[in-house]
Amino acid sequence: MRYTHTCVEIMNGNKHRVFCTFHDAPAHRFSGHPESPQRLEALRDWLENLPYPEIEWLDEAQASEADVMLVHEPQVLAFLREESARGAHQFESAPSYVTQESVEAALGAVGATLAVSRRIMAEGSGRGFAIVRPPGHHAEPDRSMGFCLLNNTAIAAADAVASGMERVAIIDIDAHHGNGIESAFWQTPQVGYLSIHEEGIYPGSGQIGSAPHATGRIINIPLPSFSGNLAYQQIFDQIIAPWVKSFKPEMIFVDAGYDAHFSDPLTTLTLNTDAYYTLTSELVALAEEVSGGRIMFVLEGGYDPVALKDNIQACLAAMCGHEDYSDHYGKGPGPHRDVSKRIEDIKIRHHL
Ligand SMILES: [Zn+2]
Repeated sequence: MRYTHTCVEIMNGNKHRVFCTFHDAPAHRFSGHPESPQRLEALRDWLENLPYPEIEWLDEAQASEADVMLVHEPQVLAFLREESARGAHQFESAPSYVTQESVEAALGAVGATLAVSRRIMAEGSGRGFAIVRPPGHHAEPDRSMGFCLLNNTAIAAADAVASGMERVAIIDIDAHHGNGIESAFWQTPQVGYLSIHEEGIYPGSGQIGSAPHATGRIINIPLPSFSGNLAYQQIFDQIIAPWVKSFKPEMIFVDAGYDAHFSDPLTTLTLNTDAYYTLTSELVALAEEVSGGRIMFVLEGGYDPVALKDNIQACLAAMCGHEDYSDHYGKGPGPHRDVSKRIEDIKIRHHL
């Protein structure tokens, strides 16, 4: 069952339209696995009584094979269909899993992402959030991996380029490096990719100097444990904002994993919910300045359901121009690491 909810009119003169889809894929689940529909259960209840009239829920449809092949080789869908037909099992060591419903779930997540990006392009402006699972950013052009079946964000970005955009930027704030997005656009000058991720964890890619051919276009920012809010603020001020202003994307995609929150069971970057609110406010302001206001978020990780709900809610609040959001966990642990030297190295490398 999907939560779709059409057209809440903007009646109170609000400045911003926020286009959203919600695709929680309840049949894509595997006992004991952290990437489960339970991640979004609490959020679903909150969305049923959403207080933000700026949000317009879009209808969604499954992506077509042609959509998928904007990024993936045909063997990926063939593999997923074959594996799904065998029933629920894990097919690689991350571990990633499929069930008999997983192809439908994955095509639905891509379709729900494209519904938002295409609406923003059709309108010529607007903010958006595709709240989808299964996630996508580890899925490579030639294989599914890392809990990810099809690369939702990469497909939407490739679709934007195919639709005529000359430059799009992807800012990946998931705590893991988005190796699949990086691979998809390794040789694509129209797409810039910036990733902030925890060093030394899955999938192991995304070192500072790992894309020497793409200076100023593929920017990897690996961070140590306990980097915390201040590091992200420094990165926004000193790397993200100057990079976006020089790259001049016509649309910004935020690959929005929330597993950098301090409560997350998989990582130790120790952001809190206030950091997500602030970062989102800054990103939408940057989009207003640089990309005609065109910006969308696509859900990736986030494995503590309470924090995930708070963090998505905070980002929606920021996008809608509200200041109220719940925060069950509060401030978080400290002290945080000083990453100034690392930021300086990255600025020099990418001429920022
Ligand atoms: Zn992640």
